[in-house]
Amino acid sequence: MQEFSRLVPSGLDAAARAGVRPGAGFLAGGTDLLQLWKNNVAPASLVVDLDRLDLRSISAGAHGLRIGALATMAEVAEHPEVKRRLPAGCEALLAAASPQIRNMGTAGGNLLQRTRCGYFRDIGFACNKRAPGSGCPAIAGENRELAILGGSTHCIATHPSDFPVALMAARASVEIHGADGARRTVELEQFYRLPGDTPHIETVLRPGDVITAILVPDAPANGRATYIKVRDRQSYAYALASVAAGIDLQGGKVRDVRLAAGGVGTRPWRLDASEAVLRGQTLTPALIEQAAAHATDGAQAQSKNEFKLTLLRNTVRRALQTVSS
Ligand code: SF4
Repeated sequence: MQEFSRLVPSGLDAAARAGVRPGAGFLAGGTDLLQLWKNNVAPASLVVDLDRLDLRSISAGAHGLRIGALATMAEVAEHPEVKRRLPAGCEALLAAASPQIRNMGTAGGNLLQRTRCGYFRDIGFACNKRAPGSGCPAIAGENRELAILGGSTHCIATHPSDFPVALMAARASVEIHGADGARRTVELEQFYRLPGDTPHIETVLRPGDVITAILVPDAPANGRATYIKVRDRQSYAYALASVAAGIDLQGGKVRDVRLAAGGVGTRPWRLDASEAVLRGQTLTPALIEQAAAHATDGAQAQSKNEFKLTLLRNTVRRALQTVSS
């Protein structure tokens, strides 16, 4: 492990300013970053410890939820207003990791969890995401768990987190404090970048940017929602495919619907084409089937993960059946 110094900033501005220094890395819960630092996958020479910043509160108002970036995954999952306004988010959090990790991991940190692609996490291998330009051995190698949506010839790594999938479906935004002291809000859909030929740049965050909160608007479809996660074993495993589904039904007609998938895309993946099939229509088993079929529009399977095409369609069907019953 590379030697580092630790800085405890006095406030947000000091944290953001420290974050632009060469070799700086922000530390929140540390459940992912410490592994990456210890294994020299993404070492930092200056650790900016955010723990004492006042970013832990969760509040609910007329317009929705405000989840402080440093609220732990467990705190978010157990919050009564989150349970009421974002049930799919609670289910996603409780399906993630272990209770111990959920007690440490933070909401903001969970947005930024790095991929579990084995080549990325082992510095003995080439990897365009870790070492730009070095190659992507996963494309011709072990890609069973990797992406069928959003990949490029440079990277097909999946985003591993569950919570952002529910947030993507709920049309959440990310509040950011920049190094210049300015605050801005970015819709989650714009927050994650596709890998293209720069897979090492995963979000629109700039040096020194600190995520301060996640904002979730109120909507009937966010309050009637579920999260279905399919994985190799029933606990402590990443999704092979997952779906967050929310629906607003009136008189059997779909007034609003929100769908996003995890475990299949290079970022939490919004299923626009499936939503478009459903919106404004009378919900029937045949319509659900049609929506599920469109979940894989544009998908490209790799040599070892063709099964994900069927798995994703089946998971969409199951999520829609669950949320509409
Ligand atoms: Fe690296 Fe992405 Fe290829 Fe995995 S899929 S080896 S993370 S470039």
